[in-house]
Amino acid sequence: MKTINIPKGLSFKIDQPALSVTTLPSPSSAIYPMANRWGWLYPNVKEGDNVATGQVIAASSLPNIPNLRTSFSGTVKRIFKLPSLQLKDAQAIEIEVTKEEKEVVSPSRIDDSSDNVTIFQALLEAGICETDDYTLALPLRVTSPNTINEFIEKTHDRDLADLLNNIPHREKNIKTLIINGIDRQPNVWVRNYLITSETERLASAAKLIKKLSGAEQIILAVSQAVASNKAVKEFADALNADIAVSNGKYPVSLEPLLVYGITGKELLFPSKNTRELELGVVDVSGLYQIAQMLIEGASRAELIVQVNIPSRNEYHLVKCFAGTPVNHIINHYSLDPDKLTKVILGGDFLGYAHYDLDIPVTGEIDSLSLWEGDVFHYEHQHCIRCGFCVSVCPVKLVPAEISLYCEYKMFDEAIGKGLYQCIECGLCAYVCPSHRPMVQLMRYGKQELQLMRVAS
Ligand code: SF4
Ligand code: SF4
Repeated sequence: MKTINIPKGLSFKIDQPALSVTTLPSPSSAIYPMANRWGWLYPNVKEGDNVATGQVIAASSLPNIPNLRTSFSGTVKRIFKLPSLQLKDAQAIEIEVTKEEKEVVSPSRIDDSSDNVTIFQALLEAGICETDDYTLALPLRVTSPNTINEFIEKTHDRDLADLLNNIPHREKNIKTLIINGIDRQPNVWVRNYLITSETERLASAAKLIKKLSGAEQIILAVSQAVASNKAVKEFADALNADIAVSNGKYPVSLEPLLVYGITGKELLFPSKNTRELELGVVDVSGLYQIAQMLIEGASRAELIVQVNIPSRNEYHLVKCFAGTPVNHIINHYSLDPDKLTKVILGGDFLGYAHYDLDIPVTGEIDSLSLWEGDVFHYEHQHCIRCGFCVSVCPVKLVPAEISLYCEYKMFDEAIGKGLYQCIECGLCAYVCPSHRPMVQLMRYGKQELQLMRVAS
C-alpha cells in the first residue's frame, strides 16, 4: 500500500462516531436551483407543467454543466429567485410533489454489452452532479480520446460535437484512473460509509468507468480508518487496483492534493485539468450515482448526506433525493428553524453558511451542519503578519496577501498571487488569530471575476 503524502495541511484526530442511517420521507415540495458551481441552466418547464420523476427540467447548452433532472413527480408550482449553494444570484424551480409516482424511462441504462460510445452518451445525459470542484464534468474527465472522437463522428448534434472538439487536452490518453474514497473534510464520513457498505455497486460502476477511460492503472484512495477493511480489499481486487492510503492530513482528498500526493505531479492552474496529466479522478459518491442511474436504470439517484447536529452531539446519514429542501430535514429532526443559529451546507470547512432554508440538497452537498444555541461570532481584525496561514496553506499561497487584495477589489493583483490556485479548504481562516474571513474573501474575488467575465 502506498501512502498519500501532501505538503502542509493539518491532521485532525477525530474518531468516527456512531452514525445512524435514515431514509427520509418525500418532501411536499422539491426545489431545484438553476445554478451550480459550473454555471447557469435554463428551464425546460413552465409553471403549471406536470413533470415525471427523472425528467430533465433545466439544461445548459454546455456539456460541462450537468442536466437538471427532477427526483420527484408533480407540478411546477413556481419559478422563483433563490441563491444557489455558492450564493450565486439564480432562479429555482419548485415542484409540488404528488403521491402518484410517474417515472420517465431511464435513457441511460447500460449493461455488459454496451459499447463505450453508448456509455459516454448515457453519462452525458444522466446529469450526475458531483461534490468535488472538478474542472471538467464526469464524462469529459474520464472518457478516452478514441471514444470521444467516435461520438463526435456519430452525433447529429453539431453544436455538441464542436464543444467536445474543444475539450482541452482531449487527445491525451487516460493512463491512470484514481478512485477517490477519502472523505473531503474532518467530521464527514460519507465516503467511508459508501466504500464499506455499497462496495458491490461501487465496484460495478468503477468497472464501467475503467472501461470508458481505457486506463491501464487503477488506484483506489482510502482513509486510514478503512484501509484494512475487507470491503476495501474486495473493491480493489475487483478492479485490479492498487490501494493508496491517506496520511491523515486535511485536505488530502481534494483533487489537486490527491493527484499530487499519489503521482507527485502538479495540476496546472487555473485549468486544473487532469487530462493534461493523462489521468482521471472519480469519487465514490459519483460512482454511487452511476451505479443507480446507468447500471440499475433508476430514473433518480439516492444521495447520502451527513447531517450533524452539534448541540445534541448527533451525526446522521440521511438517504434522500436531490431537491429535498433543508427545511424538510430540519423538520424531520424536530428542530425549530427559529432557534437555528447557523446552517452550513457542504461541511464546516468547505461549505457555505446559508440563510434561506428553501435551499435543497443536491449532488454538490455531502453534509449539513445544523447549529443551535450560541455560535462563535467572529469579529475580524487586522492581519498581524503572524504567518500562520502561510504555514498551513496546502497549495503554498500567501493567503493573508491574496485575501487583502480581494477585500480591496484589487483582483488582478489577487490573480497574480494565485487566487485561482486557492482550493478554498479553509485552513488559513481556521488558524488565523485575527479571525480574518479569508475563504469568504477568496470566494468573493472569484465570484466578482466570474460576473465580470459573464458581463463582458
Ligand atoms: S488560501 Fe485557499 S488553499 Fe490556502 S489555506 Fe486558505 S483556503 Fe486553503
Ligand atoms: S494568519 Fe491571519 S493574522 Fe496571521 S498572517 Fe495570516 S491573515 Fe495575518
